Order: sequence, then structure tokens, then C-alpha cells
Amino acid sequence: MKVLDLKCGQDHPFEGWFASETDFQEQMQRGLVQCPLCGDTQVDKQLSVPRLSLGAKAPRAAMAADEGSLPAAEALHEGGPATLQAAWLVLTRKIMAHTEDVGERFAEEARRMHCGEAQ
Ligand SMILES: [Zn+2]
Repeated sequence: MKVLDLKCGQDHPFEGWFASETDFQEQMQRGLVQCPLCGDTQVDKQLSVPRLSLGAKAPRAAMAADEGSLPAAEALHEGGPATLQAAWLVLTRKIMAHTEDVGERFAEEARRMHCGEAQ
């Protein structure tokens, strides 16, 4: 079995399972490979990327996380769902990490921001 990362003409990423590379080529020629989301048969093969799993990091989102900042919007756009998911994890962790810090001072902080002092 060969698992290929594919993308349709509408930029929908999906996986295709084939017996072999040749099998994939044949199915492509017959128009049998189509996007599960929109049915587009204009399918491109992607460079295979490592699966996103717990502990593993998606390339650009992870780099941004190491620098202590969130990934840029353009990185999210390029990266697709996996990158978005990684960014969401980063964001969640940041919120968890910072919730305690602000804690009791939150109301005061919010009030200061409201008054324009905390900018
Ligand atoms: Zn599609």
C-alpha cells in the first residue's frame, strides 16, 4: 500500500491509498482519483509530510511556537488544516500557561486596558 498526500484544484488536501505509484498514475489517467470534498478530478500529488501526532510539531507553526509567538497568518494559510491544528494547540497551551499568571489581576488588567493604560 502506498499512501499519497493529494490536493485538488480547490486546494483541499486529502489522502489517497493506492497499491503502488503505477496504480495511482493509472487511476489518475482514468479520472478515478477525485477530491472527497468537492469531487474535483484535477488532483496533484503533494510532497509527503510527516503525520501530525502528539509531541510532533508541524514545521512552521512549531518554529513560531519555539520563538514564543503565534504563527503568521500566511503560514497558516500555506500549511492547511494540520498547521491550523498545531497553531490551535499552541494557542491553547499559551492560554493555559498565562491564565494563572494573570489570575486575580485579570479584572484590574482588563480595566486598565479598557482605559488605554496597558497598551
Ligand atoms: Zn476539493
